[in-house]
Amino acid sequence: HERAEFLTSLFRSIKGFPKEGINFRDFMPVLENAEGLQIMLEGLEKALPIPADEFDSVAGLEARGFLFGPALAARLGKGFIAVRKAGKLPPEVIGEDYTLEYGTARVEVEADAVSRGERVLIVDDLIATGGTAKAAADLIRKCGGTVAGFSFVMQLEGLSGIEELGDYPTSTLVSMP
Ligand code: IMP
Repeated sequence: HERAEFLTSLFRSIKGFPKEGINFRDFMPVLENAEGLQIMLEGLEKALPIPADEFDSVAGLEARGFLFGPALAARLGKGFIAVRKAGKLPPEVIGEDYTLEYGTARVEVEADAVSRGERVLIVDDLIATGGTAKAAADLIRKCGGTVAGFSFVMQLEGLSGIEELGDYPTSTLVSMP
């Protein structure tokens, strides 16, 4: 409980970034704080939405999911799958388009990144509407993998992000308005 409060205190809030009306929650100070980084990784491990032996690998979302996903995967003895934004990976890739508030976006993985039946835990720093995490889940399934669950550091309150993901085991360490 104290640890969750400490983590919450390390998040920085920037009003009006990246555009007016948005209160951006920045988790970089958590990474920059030696204790914060330990508490975050231990917390994610303790709060895993399913036991570690019930998934095979960790998939992280670009870009902030890349900053702790591999560290978490290494702690758990798993491999890491990079879910990238469109156009960053060399061919062959498998992609999934999704809708944003304004326009569309696309996430991609290397075509052989996920084996058939591989059980994948999806991680990111923050869930808001859930659109990004849902696209990643659709992509993992398109690759023949199974979504084992989701793990987030931060959940934004008042948005139905987690419900949008469907009926999957999900954990979040802290939540803020
Ligand atoms: P969603 O698709 O609406 O759930 O937005 C989540 C995605 O956008 C994640 O990849 C987050 O890293 C990013 N994101 C949205 N809002 C914030 C924020 O306040 N701080 C940091 N990242 C955010």
